[in-house]
Amino acid sequence: MITVRTASELTAALEPHRQEGVSFVPTMGALHDGHVSLVRAASTNPGVVVASVFVNPTQFAPGEDFERYPRNEGRDAILLAENGCDILFAPEMDVIYPPGFATSVTVDPRLTAILCGSVRGESHFAGVSTVVARLFGLVNPRWAYFGEKDWQQVAVIRAMTADIFPSVEIKTGRTIRDTDGLALSSRNAYLKDEERALAATIPQCLSAISNATAAGERNPHVLVDIGTAILDAAGLKPEYLEIRNGRTLRNDEEIDHDSRVFIAVQIGSTRLIDNASLVDGHQDIDETSHPSSSTASPASTANAAATVR
Ligand code: AMP
Repeated sequence: MITVRTASELTAALEPHRQEGVSFVPTMGALHDGHVSLVRAASTNPGVVVASVFVNPTQFAPGEDFERYPRNEGRDAILLAENGCDILFAPEMDVIYPPGFATSVTVDPRLTAILCGSVRGESHFAGVSTVVARLFGLVNPRWAYFGEKDWQQVAVIRAMTADIFPSVEIKTGRTIRDTDGLALSSRNAYLKDEERALAATIPQCLSAISNATAAGERNPHVLVDIGTAILDAAGLKPEYLEIRNGRTLRNDEEIDHDSRVFIAVQIGSTRLIDNASLVDGHQDIDETSHPSSSTASPASTANAAATVR
């Protein structure tokens, strides 16, 4: 694997592979098995795999964790090289945002003003779609990989890509979870021990809602109440806990095969998000396991990752 930092180094590294195609995994670094699963999926394509590591300031609101966001390029580079990445693109700020850069890409507010957009402000998804557009412009990928853990982000990027980069194919990877079901996130590193234990309430809440759906409950308000009770019992208050259509992100009054539950919870100073399918949340027990869990007991992994998808 090589590391490139400038637009011209990137272009030169990609040039010989253009014919076969470029697979792209954008990240903010502090990589974990969720990122790794996307890189591994990308490496099954022909051509070359590029991963970017860039902590994008424009998607953080003032007062959020931009400064303290974990950064460890050396470790990231090792993980990427071990898992099929060919090119690490690790740009400095002025490569992504050269002096005078003044463009912002905004997507349909029906996708961006709700859920995380309503909590973090509409500039959050403008920051995300602008940096992804900028990165797509530099990398010019044929395939780009994003994680279902950030389901709303995928919806926003799909919409942006369809309008501006129709030749890019968006691929998604399922959420990779720790053994107790908590979705892996670079932000989990912020959690103190007791906060980390409490965070397992999040997948428990999603599983309870999914289980109640499987048992026949079809009223979204009742389902939300079931989840809220579980959070309450743990002393947690969600920023949002909502059931929406996974394709349109519209509110769901009728549960169907597209219905998903979306949650954001602040635990201490750490903001965590997750989501799960309501209807087939049950069927994915083994597939939610940790990708490098070959050393972990399959039984414990399956058990703990439970029914959340
Ligand atoms: P980030 O570095 O947090 O911006 O994430 C980079 C990519 O990895 C995004 O497409 C995320 O959705 C994805 N990702 C983050 N966490 C997970 C996870 N636990 N499972 C699968 N993909 C993930």
